[in-house]
Amino acid sequence: LSVTDLVNESYNRINQVESKVDAFLHLTEELARAKAKELDEQLGAIQTLEGTLFGLPIGIKDNIVTKGIRTTCASKLLENFEPQHNATVVNKLADARAITIGKLNMDEFAMGSSNENSGYKLTRNPWDLNRVPGGSSGGSAASVAAGEVLFSLGSDTGGSIREPASFCGVVGMKPTYGRVSRFGLVAFASSLDQIGPITRNVEDNAYVLQAISGHDKMDSTSANVDVPSFTNGLNGDIKGLKVAVPSEYIGEGVSSEVREQVMQALKTLESLGATWEEVSLPHSKYATAAYYLLASSEASANLARFDGIRYGVRVEEENLIETYRKSRSEGFGDEVKRRIMLGTFALSSGYYDAYYKKAQQVRTLIKQDFENVFEKYDVIIGPTAPTTAFKIGEKTDDPLTMYATDILTIPVNLAGVPAISVPSGLAGGLPVGLQIIGKHFDEATVYRVAYAFE
Ligand code: GLN
Repeated sequence: LSVTDLVNESYNRINQVESKVDAFLHLTEELARAKAKELDEQLGAIQTLEGTLFGLPIGIKDNIVTKGIRTTCASKLLENFEPQHNATVVNKLADARAITIGKLNMDEFAMGSSNENSGYKLTRNPWDLNRVPGGSSGGSAASVAAGEVLFSLGSDTGGSIREPASFCGVVGMKPTYGRVSRFGLVAFASSLDQIGPITRNVEDNAYVLQAISGHDKMDSTSANVDVPSFTNGLNGDIKGLKVAVPSEYIGEGVSSEVREQVMQALKTLESLGATWEEVSLPHSKYATAAYYLLASSEASANLARFDGIRYGVRVEEENLIETYRKSRSEGFGDEVKRRIMLGTFALSSGYYDAYYKKAQQVRTLIKQDFENVFEKYDVIIGPTAPTTAFKIGEKTDDPLTMYATDILTIPVNLAGVPAISVPSGLAGGLPVGLQIIGKHFDEATVYRVAYAFE
C-alpha cells in the first residue's frame, strides 16, 4: 500500500459521500497528492514508521490556521483569509508526515453545538442525515465517522470535540488545558480553548495526541511539562481502578436511554475489576451560566480584531467607524453577534462585578469540585451529552435549549482537566458517547480506561 493509495482512497470516499455529509469547507487535493508522491519516494529509505503518522489522511477544523490555505472559521467575515503561517499543531502533524486532505466545517468561530451556525453549509450526521453531527467540530466528527479521513483535529471550548464525537460515534479527546499549543488556533475563549484529536478508535487517538502535544514557546499558556507515552498503558487492564460517577451526570435532564447505556458501561467496568461510586459535583448546575458569561466575555475581546481592516472581508464606507460597523454587521452571523453583545455587556463597568467576576468565582468552585473528587478517585465517568444527536432545526429557535446541550462537557473546560468521549453502544439506532474525565495532565489514565471499553 502506498501513500498515494491512501490519499486516493480518501478522495474516492469523499466523492462518494460528501454530497450527503458536507463535512468539508475546502479540499486541498493538489497539495495532498504532491505530498503523497513525495512521501512515497521516501518510503524505501525509512527504517520504521513506528510513532509517526506517515502518509495518514487527516482533516483539520477550519479555525486552525494553515499557511496559504484558506482558513475561514466558517465565517463570511474570513471568506478570503489565507494565513501567512501554520498553527503549531499543523507543523507537528507535517513533521509526523500526516497528509492534510482538507479543512472542515464548524459552527462559526466555534460557537454552537450542532454545526447549524456555520456561515456556509450544514454538515449532516452520517448515522442519520436528518440529524445534526453536533458542534462546533461537527465537520471533524462527521468526516471521520463517514470514513472520509482517518482522523481529524477539532477544538473544544465547552464540548466542541466531545459532543460531536458522541453524536457521530467516534472518539474525541479534549486534552488538559495547556497540553497542546493553541498557537494558530483562532481564539474563541482563550482560557478554555484546546485542540484535540477525533479518531475512529482510542489507540489512534493516543497516537495523534502524542504527535501534537508539548510545550511551545509561541503559546505562553502551553505547559512546560513532560509528555508521557499515551499508548503504553493500552492493555485493557483496569483492575483496581476507582471510578466516580457524579449524580448530576445521570440525573434529571439526561435521557433515560443515554442513562441506560452508561449503566451498562459501568457493569462492564465492574466485570473488568474496577469499582465505582456515586459522588457529587455540587456546582455543576452553575457551570452553563458561568461558561456563557466567561466564554462570551473572552470572545468579545478576541473577536475585536475582525474589523474588516486587518483581516477578512471589508465593506468600504465613508469613514473608518462605519467601515468597521458595516464589515462586522455583514460578516458575522447571529450567534456570534449575540455572544459579542453578551460579552461586552458582562465586561462593562458597573456590570463587571455582578457578572464576569461572579462567573470567575463560580469557575473556581467548579474546579474545586473536581479536585475534591480526584482526591479519592482515578477518573470520573458519565455521559458526554444528555441525549443522542437531535434533528436538524430542532433547537435553532431557542439558543438556551441549544446551550443546555453542553451541560455535561462545560464543567471540564472550566476546570481545565482532560476528558474523552468514546462510543458506548446505541440508543434508538444512534451512538451514545461515554465521557471519561481525568486529573490534570493524566491523559494516559483516561486513554487506558477508554481503551478497556473498546
Ligand atoms: N457549544 C458551546 C458553545 O457554543 C461550546 C463550543 C465549543 O466548545 N467551541 O460555546
